[in-house]
Amino acid sequence: MSTPLRAQAEVSAQCSSCGLHELVSVVLARSAQGAWQPVENTGNFLDRWRRRTRPGTRPDPVLTTVQIDVCPVCMGAWFDRGELDVLSGDLGDVEQVLAPELGRAQRPCPHGHGLMVEQQLPGLIRTPVDRCQRCGGIWLDGHERRKLAKASTREGQGTKTERWLRRGAIWAAQVLTHLPVEVDNPARGTPWVVLSLLVGLFGLFLLQVQGVIDTYTWALVPGRLQANGDWWTLGTSILLHGTWVHILGNAYFLYTFGDNVEHLFGRWRFLAFYLAAGLVGAVAQALLTTKTALPVVGASGSIAGVLGAYLWAFPRQRLFQVILWIQLQVPMWMYLGVWVAFHVVMGLFGTGQGAESVAWFAHLGGFLTGLGVTPFVLAWRRREVAHRVRVPARPAPGTAVALPP
Ligand SMILES: [Zn+2]
Ligand SMILES: [Zn+2]
Repeated sequence: MSTPLRAQAEVSAQCSSCGLHELVSVVLARSAQGAWQPVENTGNFLDRWRRRTRPGTRPDPVLTTVQIDVCPVCMGAWFDRGELDVLSGDLGDVEQVLAPELGRAQRPCPHGHGLMVEQQLPGLIRTPVDRCQRCGGIWLDGHERRKLAKASTREGQGTKTERWLRRGAIWAAQVLTHLPVEVDNPARGTPWVVLSLLVGLFGLFLLQVQGVIDTYTWALVPGRLQANGDWWTLGTSILLHGTWVHILGNAYFLYTFGDNVEHLFGRWRFLAFYLAAGLVGAVAQALLTTKTALPVVGASGSIAGVLGAYLWAFPRQRLFQVILWIQLQVPMWMYLGVWVAFHVVMGLFGTGQGAESVAWFAHLGGFLTGLGVTPFVLAWRRREVAHRVRVPARPAPGTAVALPP
């Protein structure tokens, strides 16, 4: 028998941290080991498959379940009165230890009770949390929620052994490939556009390998473009790849970062953005490179665009990266800062075969497209979400937030 702690009216509110999504309810259930796990079909198809194939992680239906409302983009969460106490378990009555109010927060209560107040959770979280004085609910930002999950170890991600095994496996893979790994940023739902792009890109590459597609004909050769005017190669070059390592690396980045960006942008907007970033990258390469006889292929411009979009949307996100055999957690902005500096230096001064096989300016062009376009897409998203929900995150000045009777 599964009993929700409290039957609450459906919350219809815009996330008050990022504004990029409406809150969705997630049912958490305590497993036999005491860890909290989402019951619903959250995460992408891989997460769901993993949960199904590992019976040990299936929650015990007899134990407590709690329904909370979370933002699937920034992982911020709303806890109705009492829910945080149940989740934090050993800590006891969290709501009792809340320090006196610090001041009015800029965030409205998702139930429509007007602006919340900031309060301190002593010892657990240094930054103040937001609490509604009328209904007693508490809002935690994504990073606050993670800190609390760590402190209370109840909402954690499985056992310690499991976590270390996972870290070890990631480390071994990274020593071999030097690819970054997202620390924890599950996307909600299956990224259909990303998966279709991957199938398409691999399909085309197989045709190249078979010799059905003549790579040189469809590659971007800046000198030939100038002489013959074969401008369509700007479009075809971004769909082809040079080697297996090239396509596998691109596919990895597209899958890792693209799923979150697709979810955030919406399918068609993501597809249009992906193609536009690739085209801008190809144009940048054609205009800026001095090696005009070298053929250029690859989706790297599009993928660099996705990285730029990801940076705007998730600047606090951390990546695992192995540097000199040591696995570090590097913030996204630092990783991409080094990435951009490296590209500028290599684009301007890089010599030798290794440097010449990479379209540095295509990467930079795509990345700058991502940086330039994404703030507008995010503003567009926030307006859309605000129109869909009952309680928008930033009520227009002068509009009173309606109080229910
Ligand atoms: Zn959010
Ligand atoms: Zn309230």
